[in-house]
Amino acid sequence: MTNDYGLISYSSPPTQELEADFLEAAGVRLLVRREDRNHPQVSGNKWWKLKHNLLRAQALGHDTLLTVGGAYSNHIYAVAAAAHALGWKSIGIIRGEETWPLNPTLQFAIDHGMTLEYVSRSDYREKATADFLSRMQSQFGKFYFLPEGGTNELAVQGCHEWGERLIQETEFDILCLPVGTGGTMAGILQALREDQQAIGFSVLKNGTFLREEVEGKLISVVKASWRIETRFDFGGYAKATEALWKFMDAQERLNRLPLDPMYTGKTLYGVFELIRSGEIPRATTVLMIHTGGLQGRGINQRDLAAPR
Ligand SMILES: *Cc1c(COP(=O)(O)O)cnc(C)c1O
Repeated sequence: MTNDYGLISYSSPPTQELEADFLEAAGVRLLVRREDRNHPQVSGNKWWKLKHNLLRAQALGHDTLLTVGGAYSNHIYAVAAAAHALGWKSIGIIRGEETWPLNPTLQFAIDHGMTLEYVSRSDYREKATADFLSRMQSQFGKFYFLPEGGTNELAVQGCHEWGERLIQETEFDILCLPVGTGGTMAGILQALREDQQAIGFSVLKNGTFLREEVEGKLISVVKASWRIETRFDFGGYAKATEALWKFMDAQERLNRLPLDPMYTGKTLYGVFELIRSGEIPRATTVLMIHTGGLQGRGINQRDLAAPR
């Protein structure tokens, strides 16, 4: 892209080492790669998931992106920002009913030119079918389609590249990251060495099924051992507890580390617990990837239901 507004050119963000007595006592180094800082609006893993999709869309002569997501979706936010920066149109198909005032995510999307269309939860389930896409085509004309969370093969390819950067730039034994659709984890896993491990923290309730989701998205062989950790979902997607909010506040104060309540807060909380409980052995270096999503901090605490 000739004028890519930083959407394609990339410079590595900083990696921050956390300091705490319990880390010293456990003999574990904990690094956080601040990928939330790779781009001001198309941040974290969404940058890597969009990269090859934007290049493909451009090569195919598209100037409109159509995608789907929930009302607080980081992906919706990133797609609106990317389309705006490129001078393209964007359409967001949002799950559920329209509510006013708009939440900060959807307000941002509209301010960046995104057309929002709300669909019922049952219609939303059809979001990737040929029938749905042809209805969208008759309503909106020609577009490049990005599935939920931006997860497709090109997204996995982008995250594979990201993984290669990670292993070149940082020495670590265990990689920790949040898992939603599993696209990011699938991509990064393909880059890890056999002496490395990865732990994906499910942000969805009963996330055991995510192992198959990740496996189904792999394109090449994985050498590292890996698992999905399901104990830190905090009640499921878009759920949070008082303990989680407190934890995030403390990290921001003590380590100057801003976290989001949907993904990175849950993940770091889980990483702390695994280290505290001794499940991570001594002399291990853990690298947690801050996958971004800080726009979600605009969410009011009361907007996220406490788990039942
Ligand atoms: C979208 C998102 C994820 C989930 O990524 P998947 O590829 O769907 O697993 C994780 N963290 C943040 C901050 C996100 O916005």
